[in-house]
Amino acid sequence: MDLSLKKIYGCLYPVLPKSIQSKLTRFLYKTGFKPTINRENRNFPTGKAVVVFSADMELAWATRYSKSATNPKESANRERQNIPLLLEQFDIYNIPVTWAIVGHLFLDACKKDSGRPHAHLPRPTYFENRHWRFANGDWYDHDPANNIQESPEWYGRDLVQLIKKSKTKHEIACHSFSHIDFSDAHCAPELARAELKECKDLALQEGIELRTMVFPGATAGNFDILKSEGFTNYRFETKYDIDLPQINGYGLVVIPNSFMIGNFPTGKSEQKTLGVLKKFIDKAIETKKLVHFYFHPSLETWIVKVIFPSILKYIYDKRKAGLLDVLTMNSVSEIVLKHETR
Ligand SMILES: [Zn+2]
Ligand SMILES: [Zn+2]
Repeated sequence: MDLSLKKIYGCLYPVLPKSIQSKLTRFLYKTGFKPTINRENRNFPTGKAVVVFSADMELAWATRYSKSATNPKESANRERQNIPLLLEQFDIYNIPVTWAIVGHLFLDACKKDSGRPHAHLPRPTYFENRHWRFANGDWYDHDPANNIQESPEWYGRDLVQLIKKSKTKHEIACHSFSHIDFSDAHCAPELARAELKECKDLALQEGIELRTMVFPGATAGNFDILKSEGFTNYRFETKYDIDLPQINGYGLVVIPNSFMIGNFPTGKSEQKTLGVLKKFIDKAIETKKLVHFYFHPSLETWIVKVIFPSILKYIYDKRKAGLLDVLTMNSVSEIVLKHETR
């Protein structure tokens, strides 16, 4: 299945009736059309398969201006409940994750300055994309401008500390400061730079240097600014599900994303979901390429309790057998860049 077929599947899937969706997908997995694999005769530079996990930590920020009906409080609460459970699982199997955190979540409080929260930051101009529609008011109208006790869905300093204190050495990455559309069309260079700088300053106060970007809603852009602010890599869709990282025209490493845990393309079944995830891992091992699972920690709690432990154990065993490495996005990009300049 090449890009066109992968694209056709991507476009077709959402408009198909539910019963056909899972039937078609099961067929594609059964017949080996999915996952799609880069068959190029080249391995990941270490000569071994790589598994990457990344998580988009956003609490209520991602649901602002959303075009689909969501309950921000409910999903933020679920995310708050899930994160400690997930960290516990990742610690059991010593599996590092790249946590792409909305910058505002480094805070435990904020207040208005001359009537507006974060008055020193530029705002996006009104825009509409496939996820969001920002058409009136101020970009920060949802910001309660109080504190974590009163509004735990808007602040996340406690969660950042939990990740930092984990036994496993996770990576903390950037997901913009206020979950903006980062594309050139909807984000002026000054806005991109200001958002990145705000995140970098807050991270630095925690002793963290940000190198990795996950674009909110996959709204990639402003690459020159990312590069000049010291970022080295980002997550993005590439031609295949199982693929190799690439270096884009700006010298940034593009880390392919493979599969979003929380989607149930073959239907909501434990056995089928695990079967699909294992297939991705096995194919990465077979071709010595990269598989990248990403997820939103607000996902349904049964996935955290049932799917994660099984799949992490599977990866742990394969790693123990010397068949794969589990790396953060930044580690992948360091290896790729080092290999490139050799
Ligand atoms: Zn604020
Ligand atoms: Zn997001």
